[in-house]
Amino acid sequence: MSQIGIENHLVKRLNMREQLIKFVEIIPIEFVIRNVATGSLTKRLGIEDGTVLKEPLIEYCLKDDKLGDPLISEDHIYAFDWANKKEIEKIKKNIFRINDFMIGMFRGVGIKLIDFKLEFGRTKIDGRKEIILADEISPDTCRLWDSATDKKLDKDRFRKDLGDLLPAYTEVAKRLGILHEQSNVSAVNITKLSSIKKKRK
Ligand code: UDP
Repeated sequence: MSQIGIENHLVKRLNMREQLIKFVEIIPIEFVIRNVATGSLTKRLGIEDGTVLKEPLIEYCLKDDKLGDPLISEDHIYAFDWANKKEIEKIKKNIFRINDFMIGMFRGVGIKLIDFKLEFGRTKIDGRKEIILADEISPDTCRLWDSATDKKLDKDRFRKDLGDLLPAYTEVAKRLGILHEQSNVSAVNITKLSSIKKKRK
């Protein structure tokens, strides 16, 4: 059996609750892919919200929470050796393929893929250096709008305090046909954390 055969065999045995994990050296860049202008892009450049972009637009942000994940240019990536040109070319090719696939997948269930964020990592496959996608893809990291109404079905419901976060995420999962029938997911009330009083001895 070839290596690929073995891997396929393994993947077939995995069910929805199992994952095949590969260790990667993460590239410290958040790749934001935009099909429609909204969010920080519109604020930064004064572009009208909802403007459909002629081509998908890739933006780079340095992964650094302390600095607030600042926007950087491609030249910054090379200047500070965060990745090399070959790696970025490969990543861009992958990004466009993933974007095309996801646009089609969501369009098929009446959802517009507005924008999303991806991360990539370096790993070795069969002794060869490879760059692979190393991120979740979910309504937490994508902007998803209903095709007919533009209703937001993603994390913006939380960010903008629009409510109904769980029904929106459930709607996306249902439309994609990936919701477990017996799922007993329910909303959690998040209340303010109160300090714990220490009893004096
Ligand atoms: N995004 C993300 N994690 C981040 C920053 C952005 O998943 O740390 C996603 C976000 O969900 C959206 C896209 O990247 O789908 C573009 O986000 P934007 O830059 O507009 O940021 P925001 O409007 O949240 O400031």
